[in-house]
Amino acid sequence: MRKIIWFLFALTFLSHSAFAAEKIRVVTTTTTLESLVREIAGEKVSVHHVASPIRDIHQIQPNPKDLMMLKKARVFVHGGLDLEAWRDAMLVAAGNPAFLKKDEGAIDASVGVPLLEIPTTYSRTEGDIHAFGNPHYAIDPVNAKIMAGNIADGFSRIFPESEKYFRQNLEQFNRKMDEKMKHWQAAMALCKGASVVTYHKSWPYFTERFGLESVGELEPKPGIPPTAKHLAGLERMMKERNVKIIIIEPFNETSTPKKVSKDTGARLLNLTQNVNGKKEAGDYFSMIDYDINQIVQALQ
Ligand SMILES: [Zn+2]
Repeated sequence: MRKIIWFLFALTFLSHSAFAAEKIRVVTTTTTLESLVREIAGEKVSVHHVASPIRDIHQIQPNPKDLMMLKKARVFVHGGLDLEAWRDAMLVAAGNPAFLKKDEGAIDASVGVPLLEIPTTYSRTEGDIHAFGNPHYAIDPVNAKIMAGNIADGFSRIFPESEKYFRQNLEQFNRKMDEKMKHWQAAMALCKGASVVTYHKSWPYFTERFGLESVGELEPKPGIPPTAKHLAGLERMMKERNVKIIIIEPFNETSTPKKVSKDTGARLLNLTQNVNGKKEAGDYFSMIDYDINQIVQALQ
């Protein structure tokens, strides 16, 4: 009899601890969103991201593993707008209808983010892949706080029993962000007003936040490859305005930027907006540290 009781006790204990160890399966589109989910839901989640941090977010092709992870996932976190134009097709292919409906299980990180460059008319006729406003908002740390807030709200809605845990993590994240922000602002104050050129129009939130002036892109329009005519005008303007840096990202081709750099004397900086896009950028904070250090060093 005693053996049976012990057996039942052990069984209950084992099944209980197995349940406790069960993680919430989460899929995010980007590694930056993954990093924010880890800040808010840390030990309760296992996270799979779809887009490699060294690939262009506009050009991702989800693979069978992504679809399988989506099918099994309880939560899907995405960037909204048309950051991931491939998003809805991927959700349909994964066959998890809960995420296609805007409510159950899906978290849109862009809610409440003050957007830049919202077009006055909806049109893709000019090749514009930023049809709902500029979707590269995550690189502004102030927006990252809004995104983290959306993630905490979403997880609290889906798992109300753990709301306190998510809210505490959010508070801690925001405190750390405020602290880091003072250092970033102080470092960037040395570069205030410096003119920069970027490959893609993916830096306006960052340049606006930190007092740089973005005066042009190598792409004539978002998603349209550089042309000789456009580059000639850009280089002329870069010399006039004494542009010292050209910001590219790990997935950009480098032959055009190298040529523009050679012609104008502006220095090429390969920065990232994706956590793990550089080996030094292991989480959101170290990503901003990395980008700011590179800029400050180049402009001093
Ligand atoms: Zn873009």
